[in-house]
Amino acid sequence: MSNDAPINLNDFIRDVQDFPKPGITFKDITPLLLSSPAFEECINQMAEKVSDLEIDVIAAAEARGFLFAAPLALKLGIGMVPIRKPGKLPHDKHSYSYELEYGTDTLEMHVDGISKGQNVLIVDDLLATGGTVEACCRMIEKCEANITGCLFLIHLAFLDGAKKLDPYPVISLLDY
Ligand code: AMP
Repeated sequence: MSNDAPINLNDFIRDVQDFPKPGITFKDITPLLLSSPAFEECINQMAEKVSDLEIDVIAAAEARGFLFAAPLALKLGIGMVPIRKPGKLPHDKHSYSYELEYGTDTLEMHVDGISKGQNVLIVDDLLATGGTVEACCRMIEKCEANITGCLFLIHLAFLDGAKKLDPYPVISLLDY
């Protein structure tokens, strides 16, 4: 077989049934991370997808968002802002709490991570209900920055998470 066979990113996403609870099909990205050519193809495709956008900085929520945001930021030659669970960031922070199925969750971001007027791309591994990236949007709006798009490797379109991110463009490589 030729080494030049095109890489299909779908082949590197493993479906795990009933994880973390019954009825959920978990999209496991670890096979993609294990393959250097597939991971490189993924970052190249992400860069291509956003090539028409104005982007000054990338923001991403822990933990899996970091895996894609950091190499993409390096490739685009721009910085990256980590958005983290409470108690992890050492400097002055914006904070946003949001509803989960049971209870609430909170994310934090350094106040000096993103400046007024900057163009921000949000990156995550997967868009499901949209709660996580919606929280990121609300904090980035507090910085008076422009969100130019929300980029995902995987979009579970049947969960309608894109509605929560309206009016920001949702961009994805793989749609289910
Ligand atoms: P959400 O806030 O519902 O859009 O999802 C938040 C995060 O949960 C995503 O960024 C994923 O890391 C993870 N996640 C949610 N649903 C799945 C799934 N079916 N498979 C893998 N990861 C998931």
